[in-house]
Amino acid sequence: MRTPMVAGNWKLHNTRDQAIALATGIKSQTSDVTDVEIVVAPVFTALNAVADALRGSSIKVAAQNCYPQAQGAFTGEVSPQLVEDIGCNYVIIGHSERRQLFGEDDAFINRKVHALAETGLGTILCIGETLAERESGQMFNVLRRQVCEGLKGLGIESMVRVVIAYEPVWAIGTGKTASDQQAQESHAFIRSLLDELYGAQVAGATRILYGGSVKPDNVDGLMAQPDVDGALVGGASLKPADFVRIIKFQKV
Ligand code: PEP
Repeated sequence: MRTPMVAGNWKLHNTRDQAIALATGIKSQTSDVTDVEIVVAPVFTALNAVADALRGSSIKVAAQNCYPQAQGAFTGEVSPQLVEDIGCNYVIIGHSERRQLFGEDDAFINRKVHALAETGLGTILCIGETLAERESGQMFNVLRRQVCEGLKGLGIESMVRVVIAYEPVWAIGTGKTASDQQAQESHAFIRSLLDELYGAQVAGATRILYGGSVKPDNVDGLMAQPDVDGALVGGASLKPADFVRIIKFQKV
């Protein structure tokens, strides 16, 4: 009942031409995929071109960030409305790199959640614990805080356009993946939080992606977990063959 989603976070990579080539390559190799929602998230400077290149295909386009104001004196920022204007479908918010490198906290991320709810865009809200938090037994508290503070005040009607991405920080770009069991444990906990906040129907309908060194050789086991509904992929999404194999995960 939950359509799997595989989203590629291209981070700060690719010129405009490289991004178009990557997007069109993925498009041509996935024309047979009908049961997975594919999303690519190019750098801002390539967003418009990639959205144009993918127009008419089923591949969706995401921005990697946004500012929680429609317009105004916010030098260097981009609003959800402008992202929507160029044909994007989603915005990734709360990525651990934004939390760690740019000091974004749950309150600021919550403002973005609300700003996105004012538009037709979907939200991919990233959460996840650091290794120190996991090892000190804080993982569940951290996930609870990130979910509850991140979604604070968001009406149930807006949840239909929210996707959660569980990305343990220690697994991002490190080559270390959460085991299938670790991923399932966290995803089941996140779903139980959604149940507490919004009830069983929303909890059962909301997609929870796993992110953190997803590769062709580990995607099948992760996707076999009952509460893993897709993947947010960094490094491997820049390699067309790897990304396409992840999209075409085998149901084991
Ligand atoms: C990410 O940046 O969201 C991510 C999961 O990266 P990687 O797949 O490279 O670990």
